[in-house]
Amino acid sequence: MELNVLCLYPNIMDLYGDNGNLEILKYRLNKRGINMNIDTYTIGDGSLNLSDYDLIFMGGGSDKEQKLVAKDLIKYKDKIKHSINSGAFYLLICGAYQLFGKYYIDSENNKIEGLGIFDYYTKSSTNKQKRCIGNIILETDITGKNIKIVGFENHGGQTENVDSPFAKVLYGNGNKFLSEYEGYYNKNVLGTYLHGPLLSKNPELADYIIKYCLENKYNKKINLTKLDDKFEEIAKNEILNKYLNKESKV
Ligand code: GLN
Repeated sequence: MELNVLCLYPNIMDLYGDNGNLEILKYRLNKRGINMNIDTYTIGDGSLNLSDYDLIFMGGGSDKEQKLVAKDLIKYKDKIKHSINSGAFYLLICGAYQLFGKYYIDSENNKIEGLGIFDYYTKSSTNKQKRCIGNIILETDITGKNIKIVGFENHGGQTENVDSPFAKVLYGNGNKFLSEYEGYYNKNVLGTYLHGPLLSKNPELADYIIKYCLENKYNKKINLTKLDDKFEEIAKNEILNKYLNKESKV
């Protein structure tokens, strides 16, 4: 078995090492004897082919980078819609998550058109100094179990009109300042503000994505062998204990 992965704009959209999430997926697949091939697409590479991929990943970027990428990405709106409808999994971090919505109004009040595949939209906070920054803890049942997700957020964007969020916020901000909810999730699309080591900190989420992609590709039930996540669990519990016992949300 193998999975084919496409990383979009890796040289532009990789704030806080978001692309490291792919290393985690590859590591967890390889431990189970499954290959993962990673291809990339970026501006200047010619036409985007999405049909051969089981997972499409795009990391976050600053306003400047988002503006650059948005113009290119929009050319592929129909292809992307088709690939989502065909069941490929999309993992979208921060700036990428924003660009799959209707629009993003950046911190200079410029409107960056999104793909408009989903109905949410994002406006930057009016005060440039005021951003949603810091550790964040979520609770979600998308994997079929109620699990906690730990991570780090850093965005000025305030996302509204999310009809199916990824998770409930237990600590931190989420889709906007002190929001009750974080991210977007719908079957095979996960958009989240959680930057950097999302999947290394949350192996259950990594395995959920792996299982989805394998089952979707091979059209059969997959039981993943359990890996030793002792250190990941210790690290996660440390964060949960540190932040969940505080009284205020941030
Ligand atoms: N530029 C966007 C914002 O500030 C996204 C930033 C990011 O990807 N961290 O909301």
